[in-house]
Amino acid sequence: MDKRIDNLIKNWQRRNILGFYCENKEQAVDKILEVIPASSSIGISGSVTLDQLGIVKQLESRGNKLFNQYKSGISREESLELRSQGARQADYFLTSANAISEKGELVFFSGYGNRTAGISYAKNVIVVAGINKITSNIQEALKRSREYATPLNCKRLSWSTPCFEDGICRQETCLFPEYKRMCCQILIIEAEVTPDRPEGRGLASDSQSHRLKVILVGENLGF
Ligand code: SF4
Repeated sequence: MDKRIDNLIKNWQRRNILGFYCENKEQAVDKILEVIPASSSIGISGSVTLDQLGIVKQLESRGNKLFNQYKSGISREESLELRSQGARQADYFLTSANAISEKGELVFFSGYGNRTAGISYAKNVIVVAGINKITSNIQEALKRSREYATPLNCKRLSWSTPCFEDGICRQETCLFPEYKRMCCQILIIEAEVTPDRPEGRGLASDSQSHRLKVILVGENLGF
């Protein structure tokens, strides 16, 4: 493990966040399957990283109950309800970050808000991210999220935004009704108050006790 990653994991410890390092996608999938019990329910956010890991299918085929808003054949209302349930009711919330500063701050942009809600208050949260998401500081993390990751996500999902048209963020004009803005909520996690949460939040054993875990993968994943 290189020094930068070692320091990042140590920085997370001081923020009550438990970090794991996996060298590749396969190890990351094994780690997710190890950390989430097969009996747990799981909420997810849209994520190229999760798609590249193929983890949703593996969790479903193992028997986990997924609140999957991307299930084929469901209505828009059903999809919105699953987003809400995934953030509020699931045992675990699985997502990726837009950027991570070397000091350990985690940056998330969200359109509908289910991602920011899940990360903020789900019983257990697992963030999976490739090393391409690491930036030198929080300003660069916000810049990366807005100016690099979101335009690519708008392109991928055909959102009608200025950045969809030419890849350049014009947040002053990216407003309704002309545009359907994707950057509606921004969440920065700086730390957790305690490793777990009181009143039954978090799990009992030491290795499982942190509410927020980050699985850092030594490959480029997502945008
Ligand atoms: S504010 Fe609008 S134009 Fe800028 S990155 Fe977000 S969605 Fe794109």
